[in-house]
Amino acid sequence: MRAVVYQGNGRIGVEERPMPEIRENEDVILQVTMTTICSSDIHIKHGAVPRAIPGVILGHEFVGKVVRTGSKVKNVRPGDRVAVNVETFCGQCFYCKRGYVNNCTDPSGGWALGCRIDGGQAEYVRIPYGDNGLTLIPDNVTDEQALFTGDLLSTGYWSAKIGEIKKGDTVVILGAGPTGLCSMMAARLYQPSKIIAVDLLENRLFLAKEKGLADLILNSERADIQDEIRKQTEGRGADVVIEAAGGKDTFQLAWETARPNGTVCLVAMYEEGQMLPLPQMYGKNLTFKTGGVDACDCPEIMKLIEKGKLDATCLITHRTSFENIMEAYRIFEEKEDGVIKWAIKM
Ligand SMILES: [Zn+2]
Ligand SMILES: [Zn+2]
Repeated sequence: MRAVVYQGNGRIGVEERPMPEIRENEDVILQVTMTTICSSDIHIKHGAVPRAIPGVILGHEFVGKVVRTGSKVKNVRPGDRVAVNVETFCGQCFYCKRGYVNNCTDPSGGWALGCRIDGGQAEYVRIPYGDNGLTLIPDNVTDEQALFTGDLLSTGYWSAKIGEIKKGDTVVILGAGPTGLCSMMAARLYQPSKIIAVDLLENRLFLAKEKGLADLILNSERADIQDEIRKQTEGRGADVVIEAAGGKDTFQLAWETARPNGTVCLVAMYEEGQMLPLPQMYGKNLTFKTGGVDACDCPEIMKLIEKGKLDATCLITHRTSFENIMEAYRIFEEKEDGVIKWAIKM
C-alpha cells in the first residue's frame, strides 16, 4: 500500500509499505477513506516534534472504514464508517479515568498516530484500542463533515470547555487558523454575547466573519487590539481569551486582553519559551489553562455534527486525491492559494 512517510532531516515522501496487521486484541484495521494534512505534520517534517520517529507513516486526522477487528473489540464491526481520535488511550490508567486522555500512560498512549506509530496518510492503518479511539459516523454525516472530529474539532471543543465560557461572555480568539476557527465554532455553543477573532491574515478573518463564526474581526496589523477589545467590553477586557495563534507576541496579547479574574486558555503550540511578567500581572488574578487537547469528547462532537450544530466543512478550501498529496503538502506548507485545510480522498 502507499503511504506518506516521515523520512527524517526535513524530508517526507510517498513509499510502498506492507499492509498493517492486527497485533493486539484491541486493535482495529481501517481502510482510510479520507485524510488531511495538519500543521503538526509540518512541525514533524522540520524536526520540531522530538518524539516523532523517522520512518513513521504520517497522518493523525482521518476517517475510514473498519476492515478487521481484534478479538476484544466490541464497539465497531467490519464495514462501519468511523472517525479516528488523534489520541490513543487505554481507558484504564489514572489519567484516562479522569478524562485526561492526552496523558494516558500506556506505551502508545497520547498523540501516537502519525508520530510514534504509523498513521492515516495511507491506504490502511492499525488503530490500537479501537473501542476508545474510533467514533461511528452516522449515515447522514459525510466523510468531509466527520473528517476533523478527532483532532481540530476536538481541540476547539476542548478549548471552549476548559475556558468555562458563560452565557453572555465576550470571548477573544487569537488566531483564525484551523484551530482558532474550530474554537470559535465550539465557543458559540456556550452562547457568548460576542466572539472576537484576531489574526493577521485577511482571508481567514473574512471566513470567520462570513460564516458567522466571529461577530467582530480584528486585523492585528491594522488595529490596536487591546484598545478595540476595551471598547467592546466597557473598558474591562475579555472574559475568556483563547490563544490559538502561537505567534511572537500573542501570549502577551492574550493575558493583556483578558479582564481581571478572566480565563486565558493557551492552546497554541509555541516554538519558544514565553515571559510571565508577574509584577505587571499582579492583582489581575487571571486563571491560565495550558496545553494539548484531551480528545475525549468525540461521541458528543459527532452528535453535534449530526444535529448541524458543529460544521467544520467551511475549513475545507482544497480537495484532491491521494496521488497528489505531495503537491498538497507543498501548497499547505507555503500557505499558497488561501489554503486552510485539504480534504484528500483515498
Ligand atoms: Zn493535528
Ligand atoms: Zn490510559
